[in-house]
Amino acid sequence: MRPFAYARPADARSAVAALGDGAVYLGGGTNLVDLMRLGVVTPGTLVDVSRLAADVIEETPGGGLLVGAGVRNGDLAAHPLVRRRYPMLAQALLSGASGQLRNMATVGGNLLQRTRCAYFQDVTKPCNKREPGSGCPARTGDHRNLAILGHSESCVATHPSDMAVALVALGALVRVEGPGGARAVPMPGLHRLPGDDPSRDTVLEPGDLITAVELPALPLAARSRYRKARDRASFSFAVLSVAAALEVDGGVVRDCRIALGAVAHAPWRAEAAEAALRGAPATEAAFARAADAELAAARPLPRNGFKVPLARNLLVRVLADLAEMP
Ligand SMILES: Cc1cc2nc3c(=O)[nH]c(=O)nc-3n(C[C@H](O)[C@H](O)[C@H](O)COP(=O)(O)OP(=O)(O)OC[C@H]3O[C@@H](n4cnc5c(N)ncnc54)[C@H](O)[C@@H]3O)c2cc1C
Ligand code: SF4
Repeated sequence: MRPFAYARPADARSAVAALGDGAVYLGGGTNLVDLMRLGVVTPGTLVDVSRLAADVIEETPGGGLLVGAGVRNGDLAAHPLVRRRYPMLAQALLSGASGQLRNMATVGGNLLQRTRCAYFQDVTKPCNKREPGSGCPARTGDHRNLAILGHSESCVATHPSDMAVALVALGALVRVEGPGGARAVPMPGLHRLPGDDPSRDTVLEPGDLITAVELPALPLAARSRYRKARDRASFSFAVLSVAAALEVDGGVVRDCRIALGAVAHAPWRAEAAEAALRGAPATEAAFARAADAELAAARPLPRNGFKVPLARNLLVRVLADLAEMP
């Protein structure tokens, strides 16, 4: 590993001020330090933001929940209000990584973790995301676990966070402190599709610090679920995942929120499926039609076509389970 400096600012403003050239924020380090070991990122300074006064989980005046960016994934998953009001979020967090990792990983770092595309992590290989203009060997190589929606000629990577899929379904707001002041970025909207510049994962600008995530008051989310298909039962990234909330009244879908994970460069809000479901009967046939409406836009690659029926089946199963909930 190359030498680097370490700074631990006392508050968010000082952290933003400390982020000069060659510096990066350090959350729990569970992704960043791995990438430093691999030589994928070579920061001159780590600005540790994991212990800023950002580890609070508190109710907002509007009935939502404010979650500090420094909250550990394990603590967020275990919080009684999260478990009761946003079960899909607790389930998404618990399906990610291992207990030890969840106790280190922070909310801010989880949102900004980098893709698990094998070429991105291997500095001996070309990769447009790591080195713009060098090419995308994944398109013709190993893309079994990569995107089926929203990808481009430049990049077919997927975003690996489970938590982010639930946050997109919930319509969370990401609070950011940047060199120009504070602002809020809605989800979806934080993560980008690759287009012709896959080097940018998000809409954040250099120096932007995530300070918190705000969960809206969303009664519908009490009846929600996160389900993840993966290659093994032990800790493993998603091959595909579904976060969904469903409100059924008199056998008819009144409202719903759906997002898919591991299908695109960003967690994917399934708006076409949602539109097809609202007002439809809460039956497996209607759930399948909604899934088909969403997946009509899928453009699988030669070795990941299996993700299309997998997404359809997983979505139908999650919606059917939610419809049967008392
Ligand atoms: C073996 C293994 C299995 C895993 N399995 C899963 C899984 O199944 N599902 C899943 O979702 N994840 C999984 N992960 C990933 C893990 O969840 C992430 O590494 C973790 O969430 C990153 O959080 P962190 O706080 O450690 O971030 P760090 O590694 O510290 O940082 C990640 C990135 O975020 C930036 N950053 C950190 N905090 C902030 C902030 N507040 N504002 C702005 N930028 C910031 C850093 O500069 C860096 O670019 C796994 C990881 C490992 C090692
Ligand atoms: S899919 Fe994206 S991250 Fe993977 S090799 Fe291609 S450009 Fe790099």
